[in-house]
Amino acid sequence: MPAADVRAPLRASVPDTRAPYDVERVRREFPLLALSPDGRPLVYLDSAATSQKPAAVIAATADFYARSNANIHRGVYRLSEAATALYEGARAKVARFLNAPGPGDIVFTRGTTESINLVAQSYLRPRLAAGDEILVTAMEHHSNIVPWQLVAAERGAVLRVAPVSDRGELDVAALEGLLSDRTRIVALAQISNALGTVNPVGDVVRAAHHRGIPVLVDGAQAAPHLAADIQSLGCDFFACSGHKLFGPTGIGVLYGRAELLDGMAPWQGGGDMIAAVSFERSTWAAVPAKFEAGTPNIAGAVGLGAAVDFLSALDHEAVRGYEAALLRYATERIAAVPDVRLVGTAPEKASIVSFVMDGVHPHDIATILDADNICIRAGHHCAQPLMARLGVAATARASFALYSTRAEVDALAAGLERVRQVMAR
Ligand code: PLP
Repeated sequence: MPAADVRAPLRASVPDTRAPYDVERVRREFPLLALSPDGRPLVYLDSAATSQKPAAVIAATADFYARSNANIHRGVYRLSEAATALYEGARAKVARFLNAPGPGDIVFTRGTTESINLVAQSYLRPRLAAGDEILVTAMEHHSNIVPWQLVAAERGAVLRVAPVSDRGELDVAALEGLLSDRTRIVALAQISNALGTVNPVGDVVRAAHHRGIPVLVDGAQAAPHLAADIQSLGCDFFACSGHKLFGPTGIGVLYGRAELLDGMAPWQGGGDMIAAVSFERSTWAAVPAKFEAGTPNIAGAVGLGAAVDFLSALDHEAVRGYEAALLRYATERIAAVPDVRLVGTAPEKASIVSFVMDGVHPHDIATILDADNICIRAGHHCAQPLMARLGVAATARASFALYSTRAEVDALAAGLERVRQVMAR
């Protein structure tokens, strides 16, 4: 049997960090961005929903299945040991990328949604009594609302909601005012997926910790913009999704503070999460295996490791500067289209422009743009309470990543002019 080659070179290259940020070079790493259906370029402006994948990620995933596939942890043969090394190596890469204290604090999940459900069920549920409070913000994704509602309903606890302004800015003072002796957890997004607002999560963590309250940060949108730094945030839990981070779908991350993860009961039972099993009693493996019952998404973890390698090779300051300039440009261009109103104009924003157009439903905007190969999202963005707060049923949303360009923003602006013409007929 051939030994798996865990050091197989990836077929794709990574950009040179010493050169100035070269978006065209970065784009060449993403095969899908080169597609031109019907002979016209594809303009992908839905990266907040899911990002495109660099060739390195596609290659790493395919290479895993082609050369290293075996189940992990339990095999004593070399192929299984190689697969285990790849899986655990990916965990170490993710820990470094997110600046977690160590790989042992990183649990692989299916994604942000599963990570938050894990915390709700395994951390909070046993600690929640009638009348206790869970504090979220008005701009949360449903994934950071509904898991808490499930445990709150069961335990007779209450969901409290920190307000946002008309501009979509979190009212931090109001949030702090809502912290009480009954607050058992604070859960908030670092970046809003519907508006792009960047929340001052560090301030929230400090205020909550002052009262001994743990904080979960939903980093689904922050991680791809290289804004996640778990140790400097100081949060207790951090959740993100591989597929938004240029990695595969079906793999995600939960970071938890070691003492908290240690003190939590398993979330699902099965193979690989036990120390010993008998019909009388079972005991649990150590963290993180305790939370990874069953065969995990091994190839997904390997792909996520490759995504993290890809990102780690970039000059983060250069990427952040590029994305900030692109957001400013996109904001100006979209706001200048007649009849368009931006939704969410907080001073601190990242890579998302949400908007409405007078007299045109966001779904019609997105459908008409699609005829020009322009992909944007329209709807409530899994943030119905936020839409209600801002008095809109839905918005159109363009979202950008490190491969998005000014030319794509120009194509969107021109497309929006065409939407107006089509709808005026
Ligand atoms: N939280 C935020 C802020 C998101 O943007 C998303 C996805 O859009 C999620 C949670 C849920 O992520 P997933 O569907 O990958 O679990």
